[in-house]
Amino acid sequence: MYDIGFSTGTADMLRFHNTLSREVEEFKPLDEGKAKVYICGPTVWNFAHIGNFRTFIFGDILHRYLEFKGFDVTYVMNLTDVDDRIINESAERGIGIDDMTAPFIVAFHEDMAALNCLEPDFEPRATDHIGEMIDIIRALLENGKAYESDGSIYYRISAFPDYGKLSKISFEGNIEGGSARVDTDKYDKEDARDFALWKLVDDPDATGWDASFGRGRPGWHIECSAMSMKYLGETFDIHAGGIDLQFPHHENEIAQSEGATGKTFANFWLHGEFLKIDNEKMAKSLGNDYTFRDIRDRGFSALAIRYLLLSVPYGKQLNFTFEGLKGAETTVERLRNFRRLVSDSTTGNGIDGSALSAARTALEQFESAMDDDLNTSQALAAIHNLVKEINSLMADRMLTKDERDAVLHAVAKFDSVLGIFGEEEKEVLDEEIDSLIEERERARRERDFAKADEIRDRLAEMNIILEDTKDGVRWKRG
Ligand code: AMP
Ligand code: ZN
Repeated sequence: MYDIGFSTGTADMLRFHNTLSREVEEFKPLDEGKAKVYICGPTVWNFAHIGNFRTFIFGDILHRYLEFKGFDVTYVMNLTDVDDRIINESAERGIGIDDMTAPFIVAFHEDMAALNCLEPDFEPRATDHIGEMIDIIRALLENGKAYESDGSIYYRISAFPDYGKLSKISFEGNIEGGSARVDTDKYDKEDARDFALWKLVDDPDATGWDASFGRGRPGWHIECSAMSMKYLGETFDIHAGGIDLQFPHHENEIAQSEGATGKTFANFWLHGEFLKIDNEKMAKSLGNDYTFRDIRDRGFSALAIRYLLLSVPYGKQLNFTFEGLKGAETTVERLRNFRRLVSDSTTGNGIDGSALSAARTALEQFESAMDDDLNTSQALAAIHNLVKEINSLMADRMLTKDERDAVLHAVAKFDSVLGIFGEEEKEVLDEEIDSLIEERERARRERDFAKADEIRDRLAEMNIILEDTKDGVRWKRG
């Protein structure tokens, strides 16, 4: 595709709001040119709702934008396929936990694909990594950061002075029922803040795994420590997830991982804000959630849902309304029409001009918005400006071929990150048309009129109109 001379690369400064420092920081990876990213994936006990998908689309934008910037990205999203809800429900239904989660995993993959999210490089499942969790727990028992009580294993928060560094929650004098939300496991703990790493399972028929410290099942937090470090190393670049995971989940992941390795766990922590509805968090437990399927069944396209969910920067709350979704549907349609119009436009022989600079400016604005902590709403504004400018230009004159290619190039670059334009309708290239016309001319010279007619019909199907002139055949798109 035509290169408009705008280079992307790591030269521009990519910045993220790091929850650890509460500041916007330049992104510097551990290894030059590489980015190692972990995002907490879904608990596959049900269909994911569009609030969950807002967070996963934020992860996808992060993934794609790091690639856009030229990083070699390793993107890991886990599946939490064991937790209390899964265990209780599968026991009630008398089926194994794998049988219970399997259909939701299939549905999750279908939904993510429909929402145009790239597949992660690794998608570890918690139940496949129990051994790794046991190893971390053993290390914590050995170095005094974990203890056993009534057959379960707990993390000893008093042995990890950095506890609270992510959530900035002060735990001074915290007692159960105090102001900070604490893990409410009803077991004997030394300290109310301590959380379960391993929960005793004494019923031999219940879901559980054998470990040197007894039969049990993992706590939720240990799952992510084990899976992230296995695929990304003891220290990696970015850990992402929804804002509600900041405490206690991510705080506990830090305590477990750093407590076991003595090394920094993740350098950057990125948290996606809530999707709300009627100004309340969308949550299954509140009964105010819509799954992706609910919305699609009402006739909305996946692209419009994706557009709406990414239209507000990930660090800001977004209130879901069907009005907003209708607006997104119209916008996505307009963007697709624009691309089709430009790509099918007849080009003229004028001098390259304003369209080239408009495309270049839009790409620059897009990149500088995305560099600024993935400011998707500004990035979209750059695209909409370009659409407006090119539309008004095309009302006056034809684009040159280079201008048309430059605009399409910019759209392709935007979409490599945002993924909102959808599949391209197959474009018929000028060269293809020229060669068909040549073939038709040859057939006519050879008096093979049947073939010549057949080619003309084929071109007509492609909406190409032929005009025989004394200078030869001219064509235009109908
Ligand atoms: P879960 O399946 O409950 O473990 O949640 C999966 C992801 O969705 C987590 O990163 C949550 O933080 C995120 N999440 C849950 N509810 C919302 C919401 N209303 N808006 C945005 N993200 C959410
Ligand atoms: Zn997690």
